[in-house]
Parts: sequence; C-alpha cells; structure tokens
Amino acid sequence: MEFYDSHCHLDPMRYGDELGDVLTRARAAGVTRMTVIGTRAADSEAAARLCETESGLVCAAGIHPNDVAEIDPDEWDRITRLVVSGRVAAVGETGLDWFRDAAAPDLQREFFERHIRLAQKLGLPLVVHTRESIRDVLDMLTSAIRHGPLTAVLHAFTGTAEEAAEAVELGCFLGFAGMVTFRSAESLRHVAQTVPLERLLVETDSPFLSPEPLRGRRNEPGHVIHTARCLAIARGESLERLAAATTANACRLFLRQDT
Ligand SMILES: [Zn+2]
Repeated sequence: MEFYDSHCHLDPMRYGDELGDVLTRARAAGVTRMTVIGTRAADSEAAARLCETESGLVCAAGIHPNDVAEIDPDEWDRITRLVVSGRVAAVGETGLDWFRDAAAPDLQREFFERHIRLAQKLGLPLVVHTRESIRDVLDMLTSAIRHGPLTAVLHAFTGTAEEAAEAVELGCFLGFAGMVTFRSAESLRHVAQTVPLERLLVETDSPFLSPEPLRGRRNEPGHVIHTARCLAIARGESLERLAAATTANACRLFLRQDT
C-alpha cells in the first residue's frame, strides 16, 4: 500500500538534522509521496531545494494568510520567481483566516487574490487554508473560476457537508488532516463520508495536527496512515481502496499523472 501526504511543512528549518530520519520513517510506513508546502519565501525556496534531492517529493510555494502582514518587501517577488521557474507543483499555502486575525482582512484578500491569479496564469493547482472563512473562500474561488480554470485544494477541511458539496461542485479537492481522527470529530467524519472518493486527499499538515493516537506530539508524514485508516472506517471502505484512490488523486492533481 502506498500513501500520499498531500500537505506537509518539511523544510530543514522545522526538522533540523532529523529530516532524513523523518523521511525514512515515512517511506518505511508506505508514505512514498509528499507535497511539501511553503508558508513564506524562505521555506518555499527550501522546499524546492529539498524536492530536487529527494524522490517522491514535490512542493508548493506561497505566503500563508497569517504571515502576509509580516513579510519582507521582496518576498512576493521571490514566490513569483520560484513559481515561474517551474520548480513547484502548486501555488500556496494561501487563503483566508478569520480565526487568528493575524493580518487585516483586506490584506489577506489581496494576497489570496494574487495567489489565485498566479495559479491561473501558470495553470497550477492552488493550496488553500481556510479557518472560519469558508464562505468568503468559496465566494472568491467562484468568482475566480468565472475568469478561467482553477483547481484548488481546501486543506485540513473542517466545513459542513453543504460546504463540502459546494467545493466539490467548484472542482475542488478536499484534504483531511488529523482533526478528523479526534474523538470529538464525529460530525467531521460524517462530512468526510459525503465527499466523492475521487476528490478526497489525506494529509498530515506536519509538524502540526497530529492524529489520534499521537495527538500532542510533533507530526510527521508517516503518521498520515492513522488519518487514512480513520477515513476508511468512517466511509466503510477498505484502507487499500482509500490509499490507492487518495494517492491517485494527489498524483493527478500535483503531478498531472495517472498512477
Ligand atoms: Zn499548512
């Protein structure tokens, strides 16, 4: 069985000397492919370098909505250069976060719009963070799609079944992270049951959001299996089928490849 961790933050700044061991453990667990996600210019560039030396890894470059108020003046240009260089498989992590409120809403919208335009210009998928902002995210994606094709991933999805259906209708993929394994997440597991298998992704969001039974510890891509198993049980599917489908979906999305 092979798994694809569709969203992890793996740059050397976060894992230091342990990164090699983290990747070895992931591969030993069957997690052979990963999309490494940038949140600023520096970690996006580091992710691109990592993907050039490690097999099975591709990356996304972007500025996280919680960071847009803090960036250096050249960071957006660095992201654009990296994306245009062809070294990345996706644009993001971008989006809107009304929960943390770390940056003014207008600034978050402006940067989300910039990422959307960049993804559309290059024909790349868009990796979207949404927290207490799904209505606005869906509205901005809807108006962007009126102007041209765009495929987005709503990562670490925690919305309702209605919001999931609307996102699927827009052509989005939905990524499920460790939250879906939490004991209190019964309603999110019900939502996950409603998502068509061909739009489902699994992710760790490492080093955050460790799934049960590892909650509270630093997360790593090898742990995505716990989330996949929980989703398979919730959906009444075999783990083999869920692993094969989510891996194929991520390959289609990020590598434009059929497995
Ligand atoms: Zn993330």
